Amino acid sequence: MTTRTVHVVNVSARRRALNFWERIYLPEVLRGLWVTGRHFCVNMWRHTLRAIGIKSVPPGAVTYQYPDERRPAAERLRSLHRLTQRPDGTPRCVACMMCETVCPAFCIKIVAEEVSDPNIEKRPKSFDIDIGRCVFCGYCVEACPEDAIRMDTGITELGSYSRRSMVLDIDTLLSLKPAAQNQGKPVDFLQKRLVS
Ligand code: SF4
Ligand code: SF4
Repeated sequence: MTTRTVHVVNVSARRRALNFWERIYLPEVLRGLWVTGRHFCVNMWRHTLRAIGIKSVPPGAVTYQYPDERRPAAERLRSLHRLTQRPDGTPRCVACMMCETVCPAFCIKIVAEEVSDPNIEKRPKSFDIDIGRCVFCGYCVEACPEDAIRMDTGITELGSYSRRSMVLDIDTLLSLKPAAQNQGKPVDFLQKRLVS
């Protein structure tokens, strides 16, 4: 049996003492408002001047007009899961349970059933993912031997008013498409499925 020596170091945070003006708070509030107001005015002027054709001024800061505009997501972003299909429309999943076993959040629940095809042997009778518990680690995708589950829908807005609606069933997971085919659909998906 080996013994390990653990060194414990006490670390104390040294904070600078607040001066009088910082302690009465109001000057700091005014300073914050001044900074925000200055950025607002500078950017407003820059946008206005460039809009009327004066392109020599630096461009104003830009932002995305969410939810009308969305920031493009990287292709490798892990987003909401989907189940892939065979050419005949059946799930590629063979209910091997690898994803359910590897999932650190225990949020995949699969019930398997037998099929007559000796090449497949099993398929999922039900396949639920509780995205309220999912930590989006991607282990399920890594573990799958059949490329049957992917996290490439581009859907990241998963808010819901009920926990039950965050459990996605096999039909929902099979109906989801890759992000490239999902343009404009994530919002519809949320409104119909999650925000209920
Ligand atoms: S992404 Fe991670 S936490 Fe989410 S279902 Fe897959 S394995 Fe589980
Ligand atoms: S999705 Fe992949 S890893 Fe999960 S049960 Fe189906 S075949 Fe196995």
